[in-house]
Amino acid sequence: MIDLNIKANLDNILSRIKAAAEKSGRNAEDVKLIAVTKTVDVDRIKSAYEYGILDMGENRVQELLEKHDKLDRSCRWHLIGHLQTNKVKYIIDKVDMIHSVDSIQLAKEIDARAARLGRKMNILLQVNVSGEESKFGIDTREVDEFVKIISEFGNISLRGMMTIAPYADNAEAVRDVFKKLYDKYIDIKQKKLDNVTMDYLSMGMSNDFEVAIEEGANIVRIGTDIFGKRDYANV
Ligand SMILES: *Cc1c(COP(=O)(O)O)cnc(C)c1O
Repeated sequence: MIDLNIKANLDNILSRIKAAAEKSGRNAEDVKLIAVTKTVDVDRIKSAYEYGILDMGENRVQELLEKHDKLDRSCRWHLIGHLQTNKVKYIIDKVDMIHSVDSIQLAKEIDARAARLGRKMNILLQVNVSGEESKFGIDTREVDEFVKIISEFGNISLRGMMTIAPYADNAEAVRDVFKKLYDKYIDIKQKKLDNVTMDYLSMGMSNDFEVAIEEGANIVRIGTDIFGKRDYANV
């Protein structure tokens, strides 16, 4: 049985995504919604799945592993939180994309593990655009160097970039963060490097996804606005 609250929330989000996409001259279909399922129990995730959401985002390896086995095989899992190098092996065959690549060492391990499976792993570079100390991600000025190195890894497909904007009561305050990353994204896309497609820009959460879409995001990661407030803060 589909949870009616979750259904209403998704109806609402999809119409807001559509409006924001149209505002930036795109279609709603050009923007992928990832349901962020951290702390959310399996039954409620299943409601989102039944609604038609196939992309799920988790930021912890353990939680992803537990839920992965309980949901339908057609779900695509996205690792969106900080990933320790020694945990790559647990998720390499379970995720569709890793959004949080923030070191060469991590990329190297992903490449090696993907090679063993004979697959190419989709990754995004996490960029800390605002330079907030509490956030993971590489500095915007380091992006070119990272892209160059990663483009030489044969079992990685660098699909784009991800960022988490600082929290702001008014999302207008972080519009510039999204704009900056979009510029960088276009810049790299035009270089047409090996193993680098730059077709995804993952930015925008419950609090700021409309502004992110207006500035070019084509993946948004939304938790709270779908499933409600999480039990504990700061997760
Ligand atoms: C939790 C989380 C989200 C979703 O945040 P909401 O504000 O609940 O929509 C998106 N991205 C990352 C990386 C997260 O950890």
